Amino acid sequence: MKIPNEINTATPNIYQELGISDEVYCFSKEILDNLRPRFDEIDRNTEYNQLKVIKAMQDNRVSEACLLGTTGYGYNDLGRETLEAVYASIFHTEDALVRPQITCGTHALALALMSNLRPGDELLSPVGKPYDTLEEVIGIRPSKGSLAEYGISYRQVDLLEDGSFDYENIKKSVNEKTKLVTIQRSKGYQTRPTLSVKRIGELIAFIKEIKPDVICMVDNCYGEFVERLEPTDVGADMVVGSLIKNPGGGLAPIGGYIAGKKECVENAAYRLTSPGLGKEVGASLGILRDFYHGLFLAPTVTASALKGAIFAANIYEKLGFRVVPNSLESRHDIIQAVEFGTAEGVIAFCKGIQAAAPVDSFVTPEPWDMPGYDSQVIMAAGAFVSGSSIELSADGPIKPPYAVYFQGGLTFEHACFGIMKTLQSVIDAGIVSI
Ligand SMILES: *Cc1c(COP(=O)(O)O)cnc(C)c1O
Repeated sequence: MKIPNEINTATPNIYQELGISDEVYCFSKEILDNLRPRFDEIDRNTEYNQLKVIKAMQDNRVSEACLLGTTGYGYNDLGRETLEAVYASIFHTEDALVRPQITCGTHALALALMSNLRPGDELLSPVGKPYDTLEEVIGIRPSKGSLAEYGISYRQVDLLEDGSFDYENIKKSVNEKTKLVTIQRSKGYQTRPTLSVKRIGELIAFIKEIKPDVICMVDNCYGEFVERLEPTDVGADMVVGSLIKNPGGGLAPIGGYIAGKKECVENAAYRLTSPGLGKEVGASLGILRDFYHGLFLAPTVTASALKGAIFAANIYEKLGFRVVPNSLESRHDIIQAVEFGTAEGVIAFCKGIQAAAPVDSFVTPEPWDMPGYDSQVIMAAGAFVSGSSIELSADGPIKPPYAVYFQGGLTFEHACFGIMKTLQSVIDAGIVSI
């Protein structure tokens, strides 16, 4: 074993103990060193977003008492009400709903849609097919309780070949029934580019020009704190997301949020609890400390995940694989795709992510027949919060083009180590050599 001669630098010594070879370490280190200027740019956004969060907490007088919870009905829950005011300050909206009773991102989106649409209304997606789980919410795939069952119709305009908005067909699709427009910021598991906040703003301006009173909602999952502006800064009436992604900072164990116009949030609250009760009930139990603490950390956690994604793109692009986004593209969410072209590549990558985890590092992920998917899927995660995808995690369907999607990393050091482990695993499986 080598004795480190530089005290102040991370030494290959500990990496060797964790199964990283010298060649992988040196290959990775060189790429990382070249990314410093890019990382500095991210740090400047992080600095801004960190201060934005602190200011929102100060302006709303977050106190020690806010960290406590209520039980039962949860009337006059100071911490819950203050947290919702903090979210509204961060997103520059009139109001917000931030609750542990919102079980996940899909639930938050379904809630926002179902509470703001009425029978006879039409929903429009001007950016193509929405996230998989929303297909059942909308009723694109028939499902119990879908919007379609309640007589709410749906229209979709795909992006053009080059990823730009199909303004002509969007204009044709906005009609007297169109009540709400849903815009997904992140590409999710598609190949289209993720939308920048600026582009979202342009799209909203175009739609409001045609129909000023239409509600513009943005599925903000994976996008929070990646840029300085959020979609509500450029005209969105509502942003919706999950607390086990970016804004929970890795500490929120459950939850979702809706921030936006007072009326939109009010509608959602009456649907979440009950007509007549709305935001006034919903005990926070003991969860608020994690919501505040996680939100405070969210800008730096998001930055770690973002840097990890850029690092991976640079490693695998250099090795000749197609990566989306590519090594140089600007980033608007934390998801990274790597196309291996073979099942073995996807599996080796996921094994590397798993082997780098703080929890369950000793288990081996295997492809399985997951309900709702038309091929086997492999997933890797060793998380403190089950299913949390702000923690380092990866998954890939075992079908062409054999792409793996990965995201997260609560700390930059862990994200980097995880990616080095994937490289080691892919090399050990004989898939590439460096
Ligand atoms: C994760 C995600 C969702 C759904 O969130 P869940 O918490 O998995 O239900 C919706 N839209 C996008 C873009 C997402 O990334």
